[in-house]
Amino acid sequence: MVPGARLVILGKQGAGKGTQCVRLARHYVVPHISTGDMFRAAVKSRSEFGRKAEEYMRAGELIPDDVVVGVVRERLGQDDTSHRGFILDGYPRTVYQAVQLSVLLSPDDIDLAVDIEVPTEAVLRRLASRRVCVDCGKNYSVDNPPRFDWTCDNCGGEVVQREDDTEAAIMRRLQLYEQATAPLIEWYLEKDRLVAVDGLGHPDHVTQRLIRAIDGRLGPARRHG
Ligand code: AMP
Repeated sequence: MVPGARLVILGKQGAGKGTQCVRLARHYVVPHISTGDMFRAAVKSRSEFGRKAEEYMRAGELIPDDVVVGVVRERLGQDDTSHRGFILDGYPRTVYQAVQLSVLLSPDDIDLAVDIEVPTEAVLRRLASRRVCVDCGKNYSVDNPPRFDWTCDNCGGEVVQREDDTEAAIMRRLQLYEQATAPLIEWYLEKDRLVAVDGLGHPDHVTQRLIRAIDGRLGPARRHG
């Protein structure tokens, strides 16, 4: 069996990673693994870990590397990803996390890291108007609301502004992106595992560009299912 693609999706907060990863996971039939979604689920469960994670997330800070690496190691150890590949959304966010991912997948590695490029002015506009379903995490915006009264089209959950989409937390996340995450682009470039895609424009067009770029590098044969 040809294994599914192992993809990492990079991009600033608000670049459209969440929306595009859901679509790519459907297209390539691989699990979508979002560390942000995993931590939001932990916060909702009110576990001790969730309460700690919440403090970091509210402030726009990164959760400590060792914690995140442990969570991802456990998730990637599950059967579905070893057979079908994965799309990682929001991980890695530091070079340390990327090195740990390589170690975890050794002697293989990820197939490709895709950088969704969007200028900072555009992500600031998107984040200010971003709304999200509290239950399934589907993304909306003030300009693209659910059909009925801020109730999710997918699952009927309440659609609200994310708790960490405050001005202070957004600025901190963008600062951390430049400091800690942007160096990953260089790191994957040096390993010849990077492709950059323009993230501006209608989400359908961005999806088409992403699929073209991924298939261009990996070949449609990597599509599984
Ligand atoms: P996201 O939904 O990807 O924007 O993630 C929301 C928040 O979860 C981030 O602002 C961090 O506090 C935390 N988080 C998610 N992924 C990571 C990661 N790989 N490393 C550290 N913190 C993370």
